[in-house]
Amino acid sequence: MTARTCCKVLRAGSGVLARYSSTVFAGAPDFIATDLFVEFVWSETSDGLRSNATHSNISSAVAQSRISVLDLLNRLEKFYGPQEPAFPVEPYEFLVWWHCGYPASDAACEKGWKNLKQQVGIEPHQLLAANPAKIAAALKAGGMVPELRAQRLKEIAMRVKDEFGGDLRSGLAGPLARVRKTLKGFPGIADPGADRILLFAGIAPLAAVPSNCTHALIRILQGPEGENYSAGYREAQRAIAGGVSETFDARMRTYLLLKIHGQQTCKRTNPKCEECPVKSKCAFFAER
Ligand code: SF4
Repeated sequence: MTARTCCKVLRAGSGVLARYSSTVFAGAPDFIATDLFVEFVWSETSDGLRSNATHSNISSAVAQSRISVLDLLNRLEKFYGPQEPAFPVEPYEFLVWWHCGYPASDAACEKGWKNLKQQVGIEPHQLLAANPAKIAAALKAGGMVPELRAQRLKEIAMRVKDEFGGDLRSGLAGPLARVRKTLKGFPGIADPGADRILLFAGIAPLAAVPSNCTHALIRILQGPEGENYSAGYREAQRAIAGGVSETFDARMRTYLLLKIHGQQTCKRTNPKCEECPVKSKCAFFAER
């Protein structure tokens, strides 16, 4: 996936975001892989993964990799330590938090989230009662397009109030396909975001992959990642589904360890291979 591809998608998806995209890509190449960009790209390019049910067609490349997924995770945990989510795990709160920063990152979202809680509140009735300019002012600390993000929060609050009586979790019961469709009806949420919400909310132990770090697992198991984001996401899901038990704890541990590894060491551009705790087992490193 290239920055040019992302820009095209963003232009199609949001006129407001498009005005900012060239600045983002020019200033910080890694931003092309931030979660919010990825969600837009995924929305445009993928027919979506509908389930994490164990896949029998794990690629031969993964099967022949130098390291098992579990061994990899153990090495990452030894290096980074046990990980905890730095984001709210309750579905409604996550949707709000997700729009508190842009480009989305734990740090950016946390800044906007903190201000929003202090100055406006995050409950649906509080967001609906607030002046959009006041919400935008609170979100400004989280980065770009605070006005658009304020508008999105109003939309989220309205839907949660009108369709779920103010309790989104109550609407996330029933068949997985229907629950997924519900989540994807919210702005900025495609399959990777839905997977993440369902996993961390304890609704379904999906093989969620950090949407801006899918490359890390692919590089280790197979070598350089391809250009097709959705294919890479699926491949990473297959590797997790085939190598990590289908429990909430195991799948959350996997998600969080891959996330920190992708953010701190196996960066999309300029990975810090010399410092990497798994370089001796990494197919990408071996091919350099
Ligand atoms: S050796 Fe490099 S490419 Fe491989 S996992 Fe480590 S940082 Fe990523």
